[in-house]
Amino acid sequence: MLPGRSCEDNPLPPQPDNNQQAVPAGPPCPRCERPMQAASVKTAIWRRKRLFVVEDIPAQVCAHCMEQFYDEAAAETLRRLTEEGFASVEPLRKMQVPVYSLAPLIPPQRETPEEELHEHY
Ligand SMILES: [Zn+2]
Repeated sequence: MLPGRSCEDNPLPPQPDNNQQAVPAGPPCPRCERPMQAASVKTAIWRRKRLFVVEDIPAQVCAHCMEQFYDEAAAETLRRLTEEGFASVEPLRKMQVPVYSLAPLIPPQRETPEEELHEHY
């Protein structure tokens, strides 16, 4: 028997009974300790130079730091799907993804910017 700590370990803030629209707060975020909310999320996984997208992952999402946490069943299922190379399940659909190269978009670095400033003096 625990000595008189039955309700005090509950980390959730008290919810007013008359507030019907409030989404029940989930467990606290491990990073910032604010209450998370249940959501359905997606992720992208690179495996053997191929990209796979997985949708409809039940997760707890922190609206403050945007961290996402999968529950044990979701994490285990995702891990199994990844380890099998996504070969065990028929994909829901396929999508085309645009691919960009950043290299030609990065402006050339100036080596001596201070001297150039004085050049026009
Ligand atoms: Zn957080």
